[in-house]
Amino acid sequence: MIVTIDGPAGSGKSTAAKGLAARLGFRFLDTGALYRVTAYECLRAGVDANDEAAAVRVADAIDVRFDGDRVFSAGTDVTAEIRTPAVTEAASVVARFADVRQAMDRRQRELAVGQNIVTEGRDQGTVVFPGAQCKFFLVADAKERAARRQREMQTQGHSIALDELTVQIKDRDRRDADRPVAPLKAATDAINVETSRLKA
Ligand code: C5P
Repeated sequence: MIVTIDGPAGSGKSTAAKGLAARLGFRFLDTGALYRVTAYECLRAGVDANDEAAAVRVADAIDVRFDGDRVFSAGTDVTAEIRTPAVTEAASVVARFADVRQAMDRRQRELAVGQNIVTEGRDQGTVVFPGAQCKFFLVADAKERAARRQREMQTQGHSIALDELTVQIKDRDRRDADRPVAPLKAATDAINVETSRLKA
C-alpha cells in the first residue's frame, strides 16, 4: 500500500509521514532528500544548479541510500550537509528540470516496489504515485511554517531571522508551485489538512 503526503515546506509532512509510517509499520520515503542530494552533489562538483544539462547528468548519477534517519550519497553520510541553506535553495532550482524529475521519479518508484510505504514530497499523489490508495495534502500559513523551519535549523546550528526565512519559504513555494513540470499542488483525491495550529 502507498500513502502519499504532499505539501509546501514546513507544512508538517516529514513529522506526519514519519509518525504514520512508524504507527503502520510502513517504510518512510523522504523524496526531498533525493533532490537535496542532487543539489549537494552539484555544489560539490562546482556545477551551477541552473545549468540544466549538467544538473541532469548529476541527477542520473546519484547513488543514494537511506538508513533510518540517515541519508548516504555514494556511501558518505550527508544527512547534515543536505540541510544547509545553500543546498535547500539549489534543490528547488534543480527540481524545475523535467529530466532531473524523471531521474528522481524513477528512483522513487524503484524504492517503493513491493513495499508498504508512506512517501512525502510535492508530487507524490499527483505524478509519482497517482494510483496511491490514500493521499494527503498538508497546508499551513507561511509565518508558522517559517517558525517551524527556524526551530529545525536552530537544532542544526543555523541561525536565520524569521523574516528572512519567511521570504525564503515563500520564494521556494512560488518556484515549486509555478514550475511547469509536477508543480506543488493537491491531487484531486487528496485529503487536505490545515496544520497551522497542530503541534508535532
Ligand atoms: O521537502 P524538502 O524541503 O526536503 O524538498 C526540497 C526541495 O526539493 C523542494 O523545495 C522542492 O523543490 C523539491 N522537491 C520536489 N518534489 C518532491 C520533493 C522535493 O520538487 N517530491
